[in-house]
Amino acid sequence: MVKVYTIASGKGGTGKTTVTANLGPMLAQYGKKTCILDADVGMANLGLILGLENLPVTLHEVLSGKARVRDAIYDGPLGVKVVPCGLSLQGFQQSNPDRLKDIMTDLVSEFDILVLDAPAGISRDGVIPLTIADGVILVVNPEISSIVDALKTKILTETVGGHIEGAIINRVGGSEDEFNRAQMEKLLGVRVLGVIPEDPNVRRASAGRSPIVIKYPTSRASRAFKRISADVAGIE
Ligand code: ADP
Ligand code: MG
Repeated sequence: MVKVYTIASGKGGTGKTTVTANLGPMLAQYGKKTCILDADVGMANLGLILGLENLPVTLHEVLSGKARVRDAIYDGPLGVKVVPCGLSLQGFQQSNPDRLKDIMTDLVSEFDILVLDAPAGISRDGVIPLTIADGVILVVNPEISSIVDALKTKILTETVGGHIEGAIINRVGGSEDEFNRAQMEKLLGVRVLGVIPEDPNVRRASAGRSPIVIKYPTSRASRAFKRISADVAGIE
């Protein structure tokens, strides 16, 4: 049975796209047929950090009914498949987020795991990915504003009948004012799947159009991404 995960947060900039871009290749490496999709149709950048740019067909064309999803699937690192989204405002305006569900139905027979990189916020294009996932993974930074927004996303997910798989705490720097794992687990009321440290190699890797697990595989953040991916893939 295919598993659909949506990577969400509420707040922008917590690391959803970074998590998607690293989780996807590792899940593929662990033997799962995996496809990652950029469902952030307004502010797409999954393709950018994977070096997939200027493509003729993207999720924009699929959501506007001009193309089929199979024509928007590209090869990513370690065998992961990627459905990137275009960058144009016009493409966003012509996209119908309601089509996302049908697109997923088209993909279920071909993959073990589908991962949706969700937009920030609680607009319609943000809510649909929460409803179509088997599990929503919240990406949260260890600070109060991020936690409050993640809580709101958790409540919204449950209100629309979705299920929260757990949370990933990202950009942990170890400073005294940060909430720790146990506090975050209590405040959010969800299982913490893993903790990713603040690591300057994340940005360096993105600048080189590559996820950190490929560019700096032994870095601290990469090791954390690998542990989380193994957990999600069901590998001990
Ligand atoms: P979102 O998709 O939630 O808006 P991004 O994944 O685009 O967030 O990340 C926002 C910024 O934070 C990017 O510049 C990214 O490189 C940086 N970033 C994400 N995670 C980390 C990390 N663990 N350490 C350092 N920088 C990070
Ligand atoms: Mg993003």
